[in-house]
Amino acid sequence: MDKIFPVTVVGSWPRPKWLLDALRRKREGKISDEEFQAIADEAVLIAIKYQEDAGVDIISDGEQRRDNFYSFVADKIEGVELKTVAEFIDFAEDKAAFEELLRKLDVPAFSIRTPIVTNFIKKKTPIALNEAKFLKEHTNKKIKVALPGPYLLTRSSWIKGISDKYYKRKEDLAEEFSKILREEIKLLRDNGVDFVQLDEPVLMEVLYGPELSVQTFMCAALTAKENPRDELRFALDILNKTVEGISGVRLGVHICRGNWSKSEDAQLKGDYYPLLPFLLDMKVNQYVLEFATKRAGSIDVFKDYPTEKEIGLGVVNPKTDEVEKPEDIINFVEKALNYFKPERIFLNPDCGFGTFAESPVNTPKVSFLKLKSISKAASILREKYH
Ligand SMILES: [Zn+2]
Repeated sequence: MDKIFPVTVVGSWPRPKWLLDALRRKREGKISDEEFQAIADEAVLIAIKYQEDAGVDIISDGEQRRDNFYSFVADKIEGVELKTVAEFIDFAEDKAAFEELLRKLDVPAFSIRTPIVTNFIKKKTPIALNEAKFLKEHTNKKIKVALPGPYLLTRSSWIKGISDKYYKRKEDLAEEFSKILREEIKLLRDNGVDFVQLDEPVLMEVLYGPELSVQTFMCAALTAKENPRDELRFALDILNKTVEGISGVRLGVHICRGNWSKSEDAQLKGDYYPLLPFLLDMKVNQYVLEFATKRAGSIDVFKDYPTEKEIGLGVVNPKTDEVEKPEDIINFVEKALNYFKPERIFLNPDCGFGTFAESPVNTPKVSFLKLKSISKAASILREKYH
């Protein structure tokens, strides 16, 4: 039987400097993809080792081969190109406001290379199969692979004036991304991936994003704020269409409020309450949610929305330097036990430790200690609730 309170991660691990150098050289065309992958292999082995040593039960490859959690698809899907802010800012409806927003959000310029749909899209290669295969080969632990969700991909890459020449409405593009992701999830499952997590952080932006008629750092599409309910409905429908009927693999959806800066003030704030009616209708096994940060609000939001689904409980904040104590983690998990049975609670950090390659929110040392603290808490909880 699987143990209760399994410890897992959300995805990314801080990348070593030599990997960042290699990533830059690959981008500049100075090394081939093959050369880059060989260097990244070494970085993945390190990420695996840290997680195993920390006692993580379901590990990831640390997303070492990606520049961030969504724009890496530009290498995998034809018709998607990485554009810098400078290249697409002309399409922003209010340029000055957009620039101001970037400053306010503390978004580093390099992380604003965003994938934009500049043609009809078509899959070139599988999105994460190479990552999954290498990870599987080098660990005996269960493995998790994160994929950008269909809503995130659509919203970040459909830009009026560029993409609408090929996909008149963003809904049309969403259908295409959905098909590609659906195929990918099955491929990952058939190659031994235990857990596929769809990242949909922009859902929080629909609710709590700035009320500006501009494109934000990873949300090219929503130039004018639409009705959040309609937007969430669209996100829910396209996610369900992507995963409908897929079995044999644990499916999760990860939602957070941004993870690009250590500054808590720069990121979104607001609880899950308005999102829950939509979350509960998602055809996934697990919600992977932030709770360590105060910005995420209380877990008591589940009082009005009881669910039989699993929760991937964010119990440490990847952005802080202080390592959470196992006792504090246990106290919080015991609050969650009011709403979730022990066998349905997974423990993880709020988000990745290195979401954007060049601006990791923590060091490997602190990240490791945080994971270790979660494992310690998990083993005490297992004794108590087995
Ligand atoms: Zn996140």
